[in-house]
Amino acid sequence: MMHHSLRRLEISKPRNLHSRVPVVSDEEEDEDLVDPSYSLNDSLTSLRINDHDTLSDEDNNEPERSQESWSSGRQSTPRDNSERNIIKSLPKIHYGGHFLYEGKKVLLNNTCNLDSIQQLLYYLYKTHDATQQFIRNHYASLTQNSANLIAIFKNFDSENWAVVRTITLLKMLKMPVADPGLPLNIYGSEERFLHSICNLVPIQQITDCPNRRCDIPKIVTLFPMKDLVISDPSSISDILSVNNKSIKCPLCDSKYTEQRYSWTQYGSPPFFCFPIAHGDNSVSGEVDLPLNYDVLGTQFTLFGYTVHDHDHYTGVVLWQKKRYVYDGNPGGPSPIIRNHTPFPSSHRVSCVLLKKTE
Ligand SMILES: [Zn+2]
Repeated sequence: MMHHSLRRLEISKPRNLHSRVPVVSDEEEDEDLVDPSYSLNDSLTSLRINDHDTLSDEDNNEPERSQESWSSGRQSTPRDNSERNIIKSLPKIHYGGHFLYEGKKVLLNNTCNLDSIQQLLYYLYKTHDATQQFIRNHYASLTQNSANLIAIFKNFDSENWAVVRTITLLKMLKMPVADPGLPLNIYGSEERFLHSICNLVPIQQITDCPNRRCDIPKIVTLFPMKDLVISDPSSISDILSVNNKSIKCPLCDSKYTEQRYSWTQYGSPPFFCFPIAHGDNSVSGEVDLPLNYDVLGTQFTLFGYTVHDHDHYTGVVLWQKKRYVYDGNPGGPSPIIRNHTPFPSSHRVSCVLLKKTE
């Protein structure tokens, strides 16, 4: 069960957890990390930013990542929601569009799966102070893609969709473009996008193999947005068990190998996100999604999820005890946010977004 749940982990190659998605190597130093045209806060640009997208166990000598960057201690301020519904009033990303590649406009097809997850993260960023503070602190101390994420959200605010696309596809997904003259089909980009920001939420897998000659690493850092793919969301606290479980060693097959999971030394992040396994044994229609989750001893509440039926993706967000559906391509020219009505059972959940219970 465990190895199905963490099927992306190649335990024998801890440096290469990117197993499924061809990505341009992001281990190279990227000098062009912060482009002022993204209108980032100038005061932040002088901070050192490391690209730790490929943060592995070996180079996991955590740099100057402060304790505060994980638990800001800042409480969410009560918001006056009587005036308006912030979910309904926030900008919505438009389906399709283009991005700039070597100065050329590349038109985009099948953006709905990327749009839906970005829109949900934007809602979380705009409504959950702890998440916003966390991503900002993370940017200041750790990763380039946190900076890119902040830039994306700023350009959501100002509805500069072409800039959102360019940052996402060029900077974060490093999307290969065979022919800039042809529209680019980016179907499948939800997964690529989650991979690009997966180091926002790391966990540790701790393995004790009784075979002293076994080389299995005792502690491996995993990234649930990339490494955890489950078919039954209600089993997450069992899969990520904080108690030792006896397994067969994945490397040497020794019985009585003990394995458990924990947060890293920085504690629990304010949000959690994981993809749902596709396939026949998936039980993940939206009715299967619990509202509350215990993840490594931390309580989380369902904030949103992406849903698909055949080829169209939408995003559902929970707000003040109601659900709303973002649909970037509802048949008309503009994206909509509408009141949720239950999807037919043919719809499957693709990705789940949780926020820490307050
Ligand atoms: Zn072993």
